[in-house]
Amino acid sequence: MECTNLYINGQWVPGAGGERFDVVNPATEEVLASVASAETADADAALDAAEAAMSQWAARSPRERSEVLRRAWELMTARLDDFARLITLENGKAGADARGEATYAAEFFRWFAEEAVRADGLIARAPASGARIMVQHKPAGLAVLVTPWNYPAAMGTRKIAPALAAGCGVVIKPASQTPLTMLSLMPLLEEAGVPPGLVNVLPSRRSGALVDHMLHDPRVRVISFTGSTGVGRRLLKSAADQVLKPAMELGGNAPCIVFEDADMQTAIEGTMLAKMRNLGEACTAANRIYVHEDIAEAFTRQLTERMMALKVGNGMDPTVDVGPLVNADTRDKVAAFVSDAVAKGARIECGGAVPDGRGFFYPPTVLSNVPETADCVHDEIFGPVAAIQTFSDQEDVIRRANNTMYGLVAYVFSQNMKRALQVCERLDYGMVGLNRGLVSDPAAPFGGMKQSGLGREGGHEGMLEFMETQYISASW
Ligand code: NAD
Repeated sequence: MECTNLYINGQWVPGAGGERFDVVNPATEEVLASVASAETADADAALDAAEAAMSQWAARSPRERSEVLRRAWELMTARLDDFARLITLENGKAGADARGEATYAAEFFRWFAEEAVRADGLIARAPASGARIMVQHKPAGLAVLVTPWNYPAAMGTRKIAPALAAGCGVVIKPASQTPLTMLSLMPLLEEAGVPPGLVNVLPSRRSGALVDHMLHDPRVRVISFTGSTGVGRRLLKSAADQVLKPAMELGGNAPCIVFEDADMQTAIEGTMLAKMRNLGEACTAANRIYVHEDIAEAFTRQLTERMMALKVGNGMDPTVDVGPLVNADTRDKVAAFVSDAVAKGARIECGGAVPDGRGFFYPPTVLSNVPETADCVHDEIFGPVAAIQTFSDQEDVIRRANNTMYGLVAYVFSQNMKRALQVCERLDYGMVGLNRGLVSDPAAPFGGMKQSGLGREGGHEGMLEFMETQYISASW
């Protein structure tokens, strides 16, 4: 595996300190690769490179930038299988999930190739003075991008593509569990025409010190982070020192509300997707499933049948539906959520026990009768556990759904559109899946309210995270 060093200024370098760390295959617990670990001197070199490359990149026409991004989409689309394989190897997710992620990741290049040429502005007359109000957008400056392990490709391209479309240079720090996919994207970006230095990749086992150092470099203007709310809070504090532009995609605690008038098949399919996409290791994963008491028994039975039918194993096997969790810590946290819920009165309908053998596997699990006091009602499970509660009253379920510090995504299943839309509008969530278990779409603004984050990725809004608005007051 060749792309295991730091990628700075278009070169593969071992890093100033010469330190390395292991990346482990979660299905076999074998070491996949030893990767260079960046230090602050490497961050300085990466920022120097990004600054130099950005001055020329920002001066290129939007059409030229767009064409480079479009080529990146074409090249990635031609190599989806290679990327999917690497994602499975380092993250564990099964083949279909990995291919889905690679496709989704590539689509950000296509979407932002199209957005790059649509930057809008405004010329207006000032109401009192009669001066011209001219408004346009400029690249915000160098951006530091920090990404999680659950989507090693897509969480990176969702930031890189709009940053490049806007005219910014970037330094990206991928998660240390899964740096290989992002490193392997770099030769493809070179081939697409991204100039050396514009995108730099710094895996590191010392994330805190490395990122903090970059956030205090006066050339940096944007911090775009995807990860946990806890780390997001720390980065916001650090970003305050230089008043950086923050984009924060943080944790979630998605409620999934199934009304008695839902189409059962749609609700089961949607809940399976919302729960099991990426085996539950997603900020969008349905964390609390509220089912109307009139249909709870039938819903629980059918969901349990579907969960039991999933094949668990090494994601490299094409017949496998569910791979391992990313590491032992994540697996143990999921197991602890289940034990806690059961101790407080939940019933295990299927799964619920860590299997013997190698790999960080946890079986698809359904819990019914989950009490409001269970830890999994308040924190992200981040694993293949469907936690079902019942409700009888619409007002009550809206209150319970909103009773969390998070506000990323909610799901609603009902065939009564008037009622469904009224409920959607009362949910304090940045996104709602209505009769759908999947909201992620490069063409739509992805992001959360409350402590799920600040800003939006994708859609028209995604590029604005990397742009500043400039107003010129003019007379002529
Ligand atoms: P994490 O917050 O532990 O790590 C995310 C990234 O931050 C990694 O690259 C990590 O190395 C780095 N990091 C860790 N500590 C840091 C520090 N002190 N300073 C700077 N960087 C630091 O999150 P994770 O475990 O990798 O990912 C899971 C979390 O990400 C979940 O909470 C999930 O909901 C969230 N997530 C959110 C979205 C979204 O779009 N809202 C998408 C995917 C994941």
